[in-house]
Amino acid sequence: MARRSTEAVRANDGLPLDLSVLIPVYNEVQNVEPLHQELQQVLGSLSLRYELIFVDDGSSDGTRAKLGEIQDQDPEHVRVVYLRRNCGQTAALSAGLDLARGDILIPMDGDRQNDPADIPRLLKKLEEGYDVVSGWRKARQDAFITRKIPSWVANRLVARLSGVPLHDFGCTMKAYRRRVLEGVRLYGEMHRFIPVFATWQGARVAELEVHHRARTAGRTKYGLGRTLNVVLDLILIIFYQRYAQRPIHLFGRIGLWSLALSFLMFGGMLYFKYLHAHLTGDQPKSFIETPLPLLVVFFFMMGVQSILMGVLAEMIMRTYYESQSKPTYLIGEIRQSSPVTEPDSA
Ligand code: UDP
Ligand code: MG
Repeated sequence: MARRSTEAVRANDGLPLDLSVLIPVYNEVQNVEPLHQELQQVLGSLSLRYELIFVDDGSSDGTRAKLGEIQDQDPEHVRVVYLRRNCGQTAALSAGLDLARGDILIPMDGDRQNDPADIPRLLKKLEEGYDVVSGWRKARQDAFITRKIPSWVANRLVARLSGVPLHDFGCTMKAYRRRVLEGVRLYGEMHRFIPVFATWQGARVAELEVHHRARTAGRTKYGLGRTLNVVLDLILIIFYQRYAQRPIHLFGRIGLWSLALSFLMFGGMLYFKYLHAHLTGDQPKSFIETPLPLLVVFFFMMGVQSILMGVLAEMIMRTYYESQSKPTYLIGEIRQSSPVTEPDSA
């Protein structure tokens, strides 16, 4: 749906690896080391050329230094990308993806909630002939009210609206063949929708149950607000997919319906004021004299207007981002042992 820096992907082709694991981290000082050990264990037992790209998303709790130590200790596999400030998980992931040299790309959380032991299972599933394998946290270990319920609703909605029948779009752990990500540009909460874009472009997408562990150290960075962001992003994606060419088809239709509705209400009010009492002999209906009907119409129109204005603004923003190829992330420093070309968008 959009252009990513495909040049960057090509620029990295000089050093092809089988697998890149991408891990955005923000204040995970207690988690990165045990996670690295687990990854080393799992990946060391496979005969794969792999790299682990930790993207430090502007941490302020000592994660930076920890990542440096990890890179010193495992220079062959670990690359650390330090972003200049907190840019958000999606942007951090996007930085990692732009630098990745692997043929297969696996993003995962850096808080140990995703289990490295699932990596071989994801790879195996991919080999069955898929382009994307999306993790499904069937037994998700997160707060029930603020996370699981809203996610459940959001997942249903996404599946319904996008026509892509997955259960858990929000699971970070997924496996992609590199070509699927060419031309995909990520911002907002978009990373979770990659399977949707991919399906729309003809990719074969599968779902695989993955293990999910409770967070044992550090704190979650998200609450209810994120689910709302996800739903807004989704509405935008769907609108963009269907109406980017002719927004007037959408705006016009909603506008006409609103007008029709207000005419109907107006007709109803005229009826009650002049005809109802006359025809039935009842007292004229008193609610007509209150400002209530007016308020109903007013708020209804306000709601519709603001949603549409939001969509419009987002469309303009998106065009702006894409036409300028503005990066969503800012790279401060890259720490690694082998030379590499920086992505052109950095
Ligand atoms: N994360 C990030 N930047 C942010 C927020 C989070 O890179 O601004 C990372 C975080 O360190 C973790 C992953 O994204 O590795 C998922 O975050 P979190 O565990 O807070 O989300 P949850 O699992 O609660 O959905
Ligand atoms: Mg987490």
